[in-house]
Amino acid sequence: MDAHDFRRFGHQLIDWVADYREGLASRPVMSEAQPGQIRAAFPAHPPQKGGRLDEAVTALDRDVLPGITHWNHPSFFAYFPSNTSYASILADLVIAGLGAQGMSWQTSPAATEVEEVVMDWLRQMVGLTESFTGVIHDTASTATLTALLSARERSSGFSQNSRGLQSAEAPLVVYASDQSHSSIEKAALLAGFGRDHLRLIETDDDHAVRLDLLEAAIAEDLRRGLRPCAVVACIGTTGTTAVDPLAKIVEIAQRFSLWLHVDAAMAGTAMVLPECRDHWAGIERADSLVFNPHKWMGVGFDFSAYYVRDPEHLIRVMSTNPSYLQTKQDGAVKNYRDWHIQLGRRFRALKLWFHLMDVGVEGVQELLRRDLANAQWFKDRVDAAAEWERLAPVPFQTVCIRHVPAALKDNEDALKAHNLELARRVNEGGKAYITPALLKRRQILRVSIGATATGRAEVEALWGLLNEAAAASG
Ligand code: PLP
Repeated sequence: MDAHDFRRFGHQLIDWVADYREGLASRPVMSEAQPGQIRAAFPAHPPQKGGRLDEAVTALDRDVLPGITHWNHPSFFAYFPSNTSYASILADLVIAGLGAQGMSWQTSPAATEVEEVVMDWLRQMVGLTESFTGVIHDTASTATLTALLSARERSSGFSQNSRGLQSAEAPLVVYASDQSHSSIEKAALLAGFGRDHLRLIETDDDHAVRLDLLEAAIAEDLRRGLRPCAVVACIGTTGTTAVDPLAKIVEIAQRFSLWLHVDAAMAGTAMVLPECRDHWAGIERADSLVFNPHKWMGVGFDFSAYYVRDPEHLIRVMSTNPSYLQTKQDGAVKNYRDWHIQLGRRFRALKLWFHLMDVGVEGVQELLRRDLANAQWFKDRVDAAAEWERLAPVPFQTVCIRHVPAALKDNEDALKAHNLELARRVNEGGKAYITPALLKRRQILRVSIGATATGRAEVEALWGLLNEAAAASG
């Protein structure tokens, strides 16, 4: 392809994306594809000769779109918002066009310095002090693994880095709540703590970690000769967006010299609103935190913001310095390759820059306030309805509910089947998409409000759909 064809296809595909976005509301939210259907539309062997890109572009509508679940659909209420603004899409185009690697400052100074700038803007936006320094990771999962590796090394005097796991004197232990995301467990396993040394502490009726049980677990581990190492607090759990009592966890972490990592993957974005910041009071004393602008803020996937109070821990764990990576600027600049696991890195900072230049901080705040208000509206409907039950507080934009017909009231198995059927009807009906999940063995319907295109009308329509499905499943 030459530049001429690139322009031609480029214009065509920009139009295609804009048409797709404008027509989203008329599509079924959840893909209706059957397993293997999409694969079957593709030839089994690669094309031997090129020059056929136009066929691929044509096939997008026919062969690919049927297999897409539309995360930016106005009636997407499943999992979490994965908002990708137009500005962020354009930034991705520029990033790919530049094709630059930002593994060290010298390999593209702009990639490093724009990242420094936008991560500092983002720090200010969520009200963190200058004691935090940020770096862009791909996902919260990677950031949490990085945090636990740093915790492991700090606790062991960096001995595991030099002598490996063989040098462990006493097993190190990690603590998190039983509502913490599976990425915490994965990180603990990958960082070598072992499942036996991960304590998932029971939560209270609001699904926040129980401090008495956290302290008791630490005391018991100490009594057994183990070494408490890190605690992960969650501000906005995946299931219900529950908020762990961070200020109290800070005290415990300091008393027992634990690394405190805060997982605010979803809810961290809410801290752009000053009125939400009480939810993470104490954050200033955390060692590290992660949140995902690629969820609720509008910055297209992937863009996870990882902040640390002392980057030296990170760099000591992550740094490699072979001769071919050394540059004369080392020591005077940041080499972000030492701030995460992989070496190569995309120029992701452009996505946040473009997005903020387009909507501004006030634009982000406006949408967040709209979504919080819509969640409260939905919560009020649920609370006022005789046969609906809400199973968790609504501090942010997720509402966890179930339908409880009088006839099934005390029959958990029947309630489970009934609510699964209700979710099936809504999702397969194509007009909205919600997530059925288990919350402490109870079947819930999780309604996550926050797609950029979702207004009050869609939330009202969902409430109508849920009631229709309930009546039809009765
Ligand atoms: N932590 C929480 C609280 C989450 O809700 C999620 C994803 O939903 C994650 C971590 C994992 O995020 P990522 O996909 O960026 O690894």
